[in-house]
Amino acid sequence: MRIEISKVPADGGLYEEEVPGAILELDQDAHVRVEGPISCRFKVQEVSGELVVQGSLRVPVSLACSRCAGFFSTTLADLSFLRAYDVPEGTETVDLTADIREDMLLNLPAFPLCSPECKGLCPQCGHNLNEGPCACKPPHVEPDKWSALDGLKGLKKPG
Ligand SMILES: [Zn+2]
Ligand SMILES: [Zn+2]
Repeated sequence: MRIEISKVPADGGLYEEEVPGAILELDQDAHVRVEGPISCRFKVQEVSGELVVQGSLRVPVSLACSRCAGFFSTTLADLSFLRAYDVPEGTETVDLTADIREDMLLNLPAFPLCSPECKGLCPQCGHNLNEGPCACKPPHVEPDKWSALDGLKGLKKPG
């Protein structure tokens, strides 16, 4: 997304543009699918030699849940995007693309969850526990603790 300096109104202008999701370069990422363009809505104003860009970014994505690995739809958003660019005499355009990309990537959650109640996968068989229980027995106390207990009982036996 480029801003033409000569076209920015003196008291600022509202810019709305859809930037292709491909600029995020996430197609190699197995945990993120970009589902549409990035909606940008900026107030742009030149203030004493700087171009101030302020506004919001939104992009629909599917993320892999960090517990169950299932994909779920959500929106990455930054409602407080703010950047200032030096615009010395003769600057014709300012390209926002790199900052839009960086900003959206910073807003990717490190541990996305399909739901706060996500039950995750069974550690034994890998079954998605959100779809119901699996046939595995619930985890029980480690066997060596039981044998230690048996040993104690043995000691208590008279004689
Ligand atoms: Zn999940
Ligand atoms: Zn299981």
